[in-house]
Amino acid sequence: MFFTSTRSKCSIQSAEAIAKGLASDGGLFVPQEFPQFSSEDIDRMTAMDYRGRAVEVLSRYLTDFTADEIRKCVDAAYTGKFDNEEPAPLVEAAENMFMLELWHGPTCAFKDMALQLLPHLLTASVAKTSSGRTTVILVATSGDTGKAALDGFADVPGTRIIVFYPQNGVSAMQKLQMTTQQGNNVAVCAINGNFDNAQTGVKNIFSDKEMAAKLDAHAMDFSSANSINFGRLVPQIVYYVSSYCDLLKSGKLKSGDKFNVVVPTGNFGNILAAVYAKKMGIPIKTFICASNRNNVLTDFINTGVYDRNREFFTTTSPSMDILISSNLERLLYLLSDCDCEKVAALMEELKTSGKYSIPQEVLSVLQQEFYGNCACDEEAASAICELFEKNGYLCDTHTAVAVSVYNKYVAETGDRTPSVIASTASPYKFSPAVLSALTGKECSGDEFAVVEELSRLTSTDIPAPLAGLAGKSVLHKTCVEKEDMAQFISDFLGV
Ligand SMILES: *Cc1c(COP(=O)(O)O)cnc(C)c1O
Repeated sequence: MFFTSTRSKCSIQSAEAIAKGLASDGGLFVPQEFPQFSSEDIDRMTAMDYRGRAVEVLSRYLTDFTADEIRKCVDAAYTGKFDNEEPAPLVEAAENMFMLELWHGPTCAFKDMALQLLPHLLTASVAKTSSGRTTVILVATSGDTGKAALDGFADVPGTRIIVFYPQNGVSAMQKLQMTTQQGNNVAVCAINGNFDNAQTGVKNIFSDKEMAAKLDAHAMDFSSANSINFGRLVPQIVYYVSSYCDLLKSGKLKSGDKFNVVVPTGNFGNILAAVYAKKMGIPIKTFICASNRNNVLTDFINTGVYDRNREFFTTTSPSMDILISSNLERLLYLLSDCDCEKVAALMEELKTSGKYSIPQEVLSVLQQEFYGNCACDEEAASAICELFEKNGYLCDTHTAVAVSVYNKYVAETGDRTPSVIASTASPYKFSPAVLSALTGKECSGDEFAVVEELSRLTSTDIPAPLAGLAGKSVLHKTCVEKEDMAQFISDFLGV
């Protein structure tokens, strides 16, 4: 299995793609072809647990890893780290509506599904490609990636990790999770700006030659734990494959029956993993792409015009407050029949004018498989309240955006195909917004008092990792201007 860049042709194996994170032309690494699952493969996987299914998916892409290496990485990631025997259970919340719960990991958001595994994949990759060097993981986070990456990489030998988050763009719980992080190799820094500023800053530092030379002099290399890294995507393909196996196992679907996938989307990584699962033979009918008020993707799917020149809103689903969805580049690559020059041209347009459009015939292809819509904070709040009152299922603000958009989809199309909704975070990460959705009252004050109240009102348990934050001291207090991110990195690394 070989990988190429979305922006110019190359041919590398998975270890190099994972170790580098981002291609040197600024493009993203993508597989040159998609491995296929036969119906016999699916039958075999249906009988396996999550770890077994993960090994099956990973081994099709990481062909430069031994079976033993893959098994060890998977076991280390998913054994004893999740509060549920199966890391990604599928729960039927209503008729034909299945919640794929991706938040049973140590940081209570779906990022754990990939970021518990990535450090193992990355250290194995670096051992293959540039043994003895230190990998410096740079992360821009809209809230959940930061903590999940910190948890995954803290005190991992041969790595250092630096996380940038928007000072006023994450929930109180998300901030506390990051600022209390322990570990000798970690740094956490707020920036005066939004997530897009943080992501652009990190991307610029990646392609900064001067910085690269400084690191090289100290035997260090940058890599990424954002979903631009293929090592993040491949573990995400697993849970879509696994959800199909679970639907077969429970008799909700028969072999080959189609299902829809609904994803609350920000950087487009999660939904892209579903696209990759379909490319491998999983029978997904429609990809329902749900956005919050930052609905740049909704407009793109409906008009073919991607335009980030618009107001940026802070919402109750902060992990989706994004106007530049990096992984869309990988979809554009597929839609343009792997024409890297076309993709490079579109990305150049995005960089210079903040805008691009795709031709009508390409848009028609996109619309055959994609439905895009959005939900504002009030609609998400109603979805939380309604789902809880009618079905006794409590979901977080991001998942609520997906539920609300799914309801719009069903109302518009009448399509009753069984649908899997990616449930991306524990409601307790966003307790004030979830509680006020249920009570209809504004809610503020001590975060942990709100957490307790939410638990009492809904008779649900507070996840242990979040309850445990109450007594922890804040270790990371720095906030810098976005222009000063590189300086912060140099200071921390001593280069
Ligand atoms: C990151 C995140 C998303 C968005 O996922 P993308 O892969 O960036 O599209 C949605 N919900 C939650 C809770 C997240 O943490």
